[in-house]
Amino acid sequence: MVANATYFRHRFSFRNSKNGPLEKIHGPFTRSFHTGAALSLSEMEEASHYQRGKESSDVTCRLCPHYCQIPSGESGKCLARRNEGGILYSLNYQEVAKVDWLPIEALPLYHYHPGSTMLAVGSWGCNQRCSFCDTHQWSQSKPPTRWVTSQELVDMAIARPALGIAYTYAEPIVWYEFVLETAQAAQAAGLRNVLDTGGFVDPSVLRELLPYVDAVNLDIKAIEEPFYRRVCGSSLDPVLATAEILKGRTHLEITHMILPGENDFPSAQSTLAKWIAAHLGPDTPTHLRAFFPAHLLAKEKPTAVESMMEAFQIFRSELRHVYLSNVFSQEANNTFCTECGAELINRVRTEVDLRNLDPTGCCATCGAENAIIVPRA
Ligand code: SF4
Repeated sequence: MVANATYFRHRFSFRNSKNGPLEKIHGPFTRSFHTGAALSLSEMEEASHYQRGKESSDVTCRLCPHYCQIPSGESGKCLARRNEGGILYSLNYQEVAKVDWLPIEALPLYHYHPGSTMLAVGSWGCNQRCSFCDTHQWSQSKPPTRWVTSQELVDMAIARPALGIAYTYAEPIVWYEFVLETAQAAQAAGLRNVLDTGGFVDPSVLRELLPYVDAVNLDIKAIEEPFYRRVCGSSLDPVLATAEILKGRTHLEITHMILPGENDFPSAQSTLAKWIAAHLGPDTPTHLRAFFPAHLLAKEKPTAVESMMEAFQIFRSELRHVYLSNVFSQEANNTFCTECGAELINRVRTEVDLRNLDPTGCCATCGAENAIIVPRA
């Protein structure tokens, strides 16, 4: 039973005490704020992964399973890729809408280099249309942005120093060309790359990016196709395919939001928990998030703490490492050894205490592995 659970408000409510958000970071940005003035075609970056029409200037984008057919002068569903005269351009290339220093736990990643700091960066655009999106200011519209190069981000992360770069806030897949370029530069510099993604991506694109990705938090929003179609404007199977491609190729953690009246039925939760256990393994860290009023559901009520507790128990019956990522609870925020029950990692907001891990990430009491990756001693 989870006792004494309470909310904390926002998934990005962690704040590192040393530095605040982007506005307080005097980073090495080379160009001033870009507020939407049109670029000339010669300044724009041609997109990858698209096909030109044989008899017209239409193009077909192959980046994600929407496979948008885009006439000249129009944009795809994500709004981040536009056809101009038969050439598809990435509209958010080198555009950063938010930069911050985040504890890796804020993504959330609880089993990958716990206690590390990441340079969290995001642009704008998304290929899903979730009515509950709590980052809609970046994913569903175009906020003010700054131009930044990959090397500038790498230099910022090294100077801090941070473990690496986390691509988050909006959907990194529709920022693909810049994410790939930056991830390659970061890896060459010895940094880690982490994706926070909804996973709606063409498999060949994902396989191209994966050699440069060290860890992923994948958001599985439901285990039912109608939910994805109606609430997210996308579909379920490509997301599950992404999860199976990621398994074993990178460190993987799952996030699942509990949305009252939509996906909070015990049978659906049990089905999703069983799917994760069977296809990704019962040691896959799984983060359950409470919904808070946002975006198109701004007038709805948040997920009740009692519902989160019930969901925790359902997922715990199938999975060994389940967390309530925005509800405070000692039992549901901390990591316990699955063999001897010792408390391995204690978390209180930004404070992370690796109180019972040996240098290899195993339980210091009994030696059991708990799917925790720590820095090499
Ligand atoms: S990435 Fe954007 S333009 Fe390309 S298929 Fe997906 S939604 Fe359409």
